[in-house]
Amino acid sequence: MENLPKHDGNYVPLSPITFLPRAAAVYADRTSLIYGGTTFTWRQTCDRCCRLVAALRALSVSKNGDIQVSVLAPNTPALYEMHFAVPMAGAVINAINTHLDAAAVAAILRHAAPKLLFVDYQYAGVVTEALNAISDTNLPLLVVIDDIDTPTGACVGELEYEQLVARGDPARYPPRKVEDEWDAVALNYTSGTTSAPKGVVYSHRGAYLSTMGLLLQWGVGHEPVYLWSLPMFHCNGWTFTWGVAARGGANVCVRAPTADAMYSAIANHGVTHMCVAPVLFNVLLEADRGPLRRTVEVLTGGAPPPAALLERVERLGFHVTHAYGMTEATGPAMVCEWRKRWDALPPTERALLKARQGVGALSLAGAEVKDLKTMESVPRDGGTLGEIVLRGSSLMKGYYKNPEATAAAFHGEWFLTGDVGVVHSDGYVEIKDRSKDVIISGGENISSVDIEAALYGHPALREAAVVAMPHPYWGETPCAFVVLKKESDFGAGEVSDEKIVSFCRSKMAHFMVPRKVVFVDELPKKATGKLQKLVLRERARGLRPRASDKRRTEPARPTISTSGSKL
Ligand code: ADP
Repeated sequence: MENLPKHDGNYVPLSPITFLPRAAAVYADRTSLIYGGTTFTWRQTCDRCCRLVAALRALSVSKNGDIQVSVLAPNTPALYEMHFAVPMAGAVINAINTHLDAAAVAAILRHAAPKLLFVDYQYAGVVTEALNAISDTNLPLLVVIDDIDTPTGACVGELEYEQLVARGDPARYPPRKVEDEWDAVALNYTSGTTSAPKGVVYSHRGAYLSTMGLLLQWGVGHEPVYLWSLPMFHCNGWTFTWGVAARGGANVCVRAPTADAMYSAIANHGVTHMCVAPVLFNVLLEADRGPLRRTVEVLTGGAPPPAALLERVERLGFHVTHAYGMTEATGPAMVCEWRKRWDALPPTERALLKARQGVGALSLAGAEVKDLKTMESVPRDGGTLGEIVLRGSSLMKGYYKNPEATAAAFHGEWFLTGDVGVVHSDGYVEIKDRSKDVIISGGENISSVDIEAALYGHPALREAAVVAMPHPYWGETPCAFVVLKKESDFGAGEVSDEKIVSFCRSKMAHFMVPRKVVFVDELPKKATGKLQKLVLRERARGLRPRASDKRRTEPARPTISTSGSKL
């Protein structure tokens, strides 16, 4: 056995960019990309990527230490192509969140220090402002991406994307081979819900494993038609930028995931798969187009999907798979793998099972819930809280230029997610909160996610978020911020804070019931639809329990429910 060494024929670095030349060879004439009236085949996409690689290499963007190429663009063909072309040139792709303001973009550019910055014409203003804010003389070279389908002629930079693609000479500058699978392929900044954004670095190996694992766990078969409703800048589209090529699918690109754009793509292109954050379920539901003609597979995650919302969206003909993850885990780290026998259950019970975050991703070696003091796994009792920890090759390499944060993210061999959950008797994990969002009332832990899930069952509520509010006796109590549905969707007299509080009383232990309900027009969110609980906590700090809340001075201990167990 020992005379069987590794060599270049049997030990090739794992990398998701290998999916592109394979797609060009195997699925050559199949549609790779659809954007408005523009379509490409896999042969054309590979050709365009190779040309871009050559142009990048001609500009000395090639492996020479760490070279980043940043891009600020919506879900367009250019952003898709760059997910292959940039690493094929030996550089690292840094797709920036398009919802950031100029100051946040400037902070990323200062930290990532890209050699080139590609910007979609729509974001030229933000980028100009961001670049003006960087005093550094080492500014990146700017490349403008015009709309390929309906060119605007906008060209505020020195270079234009299509010019680069046209002038690239792959015979002179062919794609570079990945030398080491541990090399960086992507740099993604966290949305910074709980702390300042950090630059998460993915390896080729991690991205490859994550892509393969998710395709399998979501059951993506041959020739998917994938709708880009999830931003590609979010964990590289949860790896589907690379994954759709692996399956020879068609990428349907849209600038913004409006109800019209999504339903038209579904009707016109026969979309089979799409990813959405739970917040987009409301967009799909409110557009009210009636049931779909054929089932669309939806992968959701990024925030806890309330069971009530899952049930409603499935009634429209979307079949939902729920995944949980984070930037540091190259996207999904857990999937709520469906069991056949659950099909026989009533819809509400099915939705409750599906709202759980599930079991470890295939690409991980471990996903557990542990008591961080002892590093013992919590019992499978659905009640004992612990922190979700992960280990495996699909985790990030670390945080760019931040060794302290990298070291703090790992505890021994485990990556600490900062999420608090329980394990049910069947081994499925359910998130109860982010550790920073747990409400501690009278010494008991209350899960804001549990309260939110109950509130989503209220017929008049569109959205709900629960955070801690100071309380003179209990220390903290839950405070709910709620957004109402359109008035026509619920009966008159259903909404007053008292009605909502008594609704909660019928659904949960009394100590969990929000002591304050605040009606708002919208909830503060990050670009990915993630709630900014920090903003709400700040607001709740100045609030007091409802005047009619007699229990505010009650000395009795609260009843302990499953979510009241100690961390
Ligand atoms: P940030 O940490 O800056 O918000 P991420 O996009 O990486 O950026 O967010 C990851 C977090 O989102 C997770 O740690 C978790 O708290 C939350 N999250 C992701 N998916 C789910 C899910 N399916 N259910 C509950 N929470 C989720």
